[in-house]
Amino acid sequence: MKEKLKAIVDEALVKIQASEELDKLNDIRVAFLGKKGELTEILKSMKDVAPADRPVIGQLVNEARAALEEKLDEKKNYFAKKLREEQIQKETIDVTLPAKKPMVGHRHPNSIALDEVERIFVGMGYEVVEGPEVEYDYYNFEALNIPANHPAKDEQDTFYITGDILLRTQTSPVQVREMEKGKLPIRILAPGKVYRSDEVDATHSPNFHQIEGLVIDKNITFADLKGTLAEFAKQLFGENTKVKFRPHHFPFTEPSAEVDVSCFKCGGKGCRFCKGSGWIEILGCGMVHPKVLKMSGIDPEEYSGFAFGVGLERIALLKYEIDDMRLLYENDVRFLKQF
Ligand SMILES: [Zn+2]
Repeated sequence: MKEKLKAIVDEALVKIQASEELDKLNDIRVAFLGKKGELTEILKSMKDVAPADRPVIGQLVNEARAALEEKLDEKKNYFAKKLREEQIQKETIDVTLPAKKPMVGHRHPNSIALDEVERIFVGMGYEVVEGPEVEYDYYNFEALNIPANHPAKDEQDTFYITGDILLRTQTSPVQVREMEKGKLPIRILAPGKVYRSDEVDATHSPNFHQIEGLVIDKNITFADLKGTLAEFAKQLFGENTKVKFRPHHFPFTEPSAEVDVSCFKCGGKGCRFCKGSGWIEILGCGMVHPKVLKMSGIDPEEYSGFAFGVGLERIALLKYEIDDMRLLYENDVRFLKQF
């Protein structure tokens, strides 16, 4: 009986040692310690053992059971530990791997240029104001000294919503709305979208942006206009930038001028950028027409003022040396992320 017991235990130990997974271990437990297991069978056969030997055999069986259980637990713990280690290995994050960067938006060259222009004029005490893009004919044309039969209305080829409502062709109506408020003096910058029924090409778009400025106060002269725009040009294009005023005509200003800045690429000597002239045209301006002042309820005998308008795209194209305006609207990320 003793030998048989030893043989059973040895066999079990070998099997436990050789088992490679938790399931096999359970099979071994059932095979040896289960209800029909080999050790249990021995206990059942105790009736064949001489009564005097029974306690000894009983103790041996119990010892064998205890030994097997200990080994089984040991092996079970070993498997559990191994499993945990494998899991930890699997779930480990390698923090040295380069992370995937999320796509972050990028400021548009137009926005960068607008911020720059606003910064310059706010620094000179201007207030930034906005107005409606869908505008009355009155504010867009009539109040700016462009009556119904004026050729400028044809020139600008407007998008009409109804007979007297349209998409504004300029940001000047914001000036009229500001003047009508009757609060003087005025010193405003009005940036915004404007619309004209132009075909899309390298220098035209049916939708673009203007930035207009308006100053109205007592004793404002053309010298104030020149000084302001000369300072603006210096801050935008560099300390050595010069300005040149060429006589021009706008219905809402008198006198009117177009302003060129000395080429910031060649300093005025002439290069490909300025087409050899040394000058680059950037904006239109003038002294506010007395008729415009009067229509908005301001006495031209007491007050005077100047206005100027610059294309935002023009500034962005010049500043970043972009040669095709369409690039600003295509929203190609490969293009935009260069700025
Ligand atoms: Zn040049």
